[in-house]
Amino acid sequence: MILYLNLLTSLIMATTDTASSPRFTPQDLPYAYDALAPAISEETMHYHHDKHYAGYVDKLNELIVDTPFAGQPLEDIILSADGPVYNNAAQAWNHAFFFGQLSPKPQKEPSGELLEAINRNFGSLDELIGRAAAGLFGSGWVWLAEDPSGRLAVVSEQNAGNPMRHGMKPLLAIDVWEHAYYIDYRNRRADAVEALWGVVDWKVVGDRYAEK
Ligand code: MN
Repeated sequence: MILYLNLLTSLIMATTDTASSPRFTPQDLPYAYDALAPAISEETMHYHHDKHYAGYVDKLNELIVDTPFAGQPLEDIILSADGPVYNNAAQAWNHAFFFGQLSPKPQKEPSGELLEAINRNFGSLDELIGRAAAGLFGSGWVWLAEDPSGRLAVVSEQNAGNPMRHGMKPLLAIDVWEHAYYIDYRNRRADAVEALWGVVDWKVVGDRYAEK
């Protein structure tokens, strides 16, 4: 009888969990899986979006069941969590941000106020790209971000690191985890990142910069 009751309890819990989750769902790509080839292949996009990104979202949903994080927006979780909850929340956010700034028909160069800010802070777009390349090391993210005083900076973060944690506003993210490029470029990470710049939509980055 006790065994039966335990079974019943776990069935009810499983049902409850299913009813209340998933809390977060992966965002669809805003373009076809093969749209960014040859810079990023269809195969890489399927692994990166459907396995890695969706995996972080699934794991986050598992981790936050019955915790205070369960009712919170993703950004709030990133600002306050640590350990596995932070890692999976930040990876979920970072990937949606990363995929969202790429386009098969990108605006190739920054314009307007963002261009002025890049020239003011770095001298030129080429100088910004050079600094981003210098920040490539290990598994992590290289960011273009704005600090509270309005200054733009290139910020290298290990693992899931997100500059929001330092009070900065993310504008552009470069994923430098091996899973982002290894199928297409093997160990040639610099080549992968160079190709990535060709599909960055500076219209999206400019809109992020303009958003207050
Ligand atoms: Mn990734």
